[in-house]
Amino acid sequence: MKYDYLIVGAGLFGAVFAQEAKQAGKKCLVVEKRGHIAGNVYCEEIHGIQVHRYGAHIFHTSDEKIWEYVCRFARFNHYINSPIARYRDELYNLPFNMNTFSKMWGIATPQEARDIIASQIADLGIAEPKNLEEQALSLVGRDVYEKLIKGYTEKQWGRDCKDLPAFIIKRLPLRFTYDNNYFNDRFQGIPTGGYTKLVEKLLEGTEVRLDTDYLQHRAELDALADKIVYTGMIDQYYDYSLGVLQYRSVRFETEELEMENYQGNAVVNYTERQVPYTRIIEHKHFEFGTQPTTIISREYSSEWTKGDEPYYPVNDERNNALYEQYREKADKEERLIFGGRLGGYKYYDMDKVIAAALELCRRELPPR
Ligand code: FAD
Ligand code: UDP
Repeated sequence: MKYDYLIVGAGLFGAVFAQEAKQAGKKCLVVEKRGHIAGNVYCEEIHGIQVHRYGAHIFHTSDEKIWEYVCRFARFNHYINSPIARYRDELYNLPFNMNTFSKMWGIATPQEARDIIASQIADLGIAEPKNLEEQALSLVGRDVYEKLIKGYTEKQWGRDCKDLPAFIIKRLPLRFTYDNNYFNDRFQGIPTGGYTKLVEKLLEGTEVRLDTDYLQHRAELDALADKIVYTGMIDQYYDYSLGVLQYRSVRFETEELEMENYQGNAVVNYTERQVPYTRIIEHKHFEFGTQPTTIISREYSSEWTKGDEPYYPVNDERNNALYEQYREKADKEERLIFGGRLGGYKYYDMDKVIAAALELCRRELPPR
């Protein structure tokens, strides 16, 4: 055996594990099927602009230890995410807060907003929300639901809001203060120079083979290491033998425009059903860029089929039950460990992925 660990996937999970294993004196080989490191947080520099190739990524956490950890590998700027929602010609602040309500209803105080929401849901009799629609209605009332949630969510998930789990919408803060910060977390920012540099630092001193699909070279790669940390799709690892887990995929249409500033904000969500994309990202605003041109990406959400990039796990009952069956199989593996968002079939934010990787290191690696 040449290596202690074979790490499949050069995303955040694999890179954090590689970094910690190196510090613990272990020898690792990272294999990555794409032609670059950093997984979905990969940023590609185009004319001085960091383009988030697999979707916009804003780092945010309330976990001080995780914040200190990432700050060892990158400097973070002071970017605060404050998306705009566009419904036809109306513009609203997100997340749902007093700016949103004031614009929607011409009111000024939290009590007025609460009264309007209460009056809009009084006759619905929702005690325990059973799905996303009921959850959204009971939180923000009918107007906000119809204009800012229904169309966006149905485009994003390709399903009726009544068929989606309530927890999806609970990810968004709801506030009765005038605060447009999309996240409630204590720490937030974007690594200066992009996420790729951060992952590069994590992988410093570890051998990485790009353009190498583990599943196509399984036998020869398995022979190289004692243990395997696998951050790809768990069902694909088992050749979909128990069934196929569902994902949503995203197609990005990226273009450079000969103007300095296209939309005045990094993120504009298009919440009406008729606009085919869900949002437009203007990448330079994540870094307060002053370049003469700008780069935008329109995001189109679609159902995932084999061969597409998997982005969002569809955590409904059927998929969660199927995942559990795969997990039972995985638990019996002796030298194979699944990790990351694809290995765990869970929507993990970056801080949670790093925390999960560090937790694995605590169990797996000798204490320093
Ligand atoms: P990945 O980054 O997916 O890395 C897995 C790697 O494994 C990939 O590079 C893949 O190519 C490789 N791989 C898979 N199979 C094989 C194989 N057979 N052989 C070799 N290599 C293989 N989080 C936030 O905190 N803030 C955000 O703003 C945010 N925005 C997001 C936006 C979108 C559109 C999405 C989808 C996610 C977002 N996230 C965000 C979540 C974030 O992307 C994840 O937490 C993080 O990327 C997960 O890291 P990972 O290492 O688990 O997975
Ligand atoms: N959402 C919405 N309208 C918006 C933004 C979000 O209805 O303008 C809903 C939608 O269902 C989405 C969920 O809130 O899936 C979570 O949004 P988030 O911004 O966290 O999604 P992500 O950035 O992960 O795509």
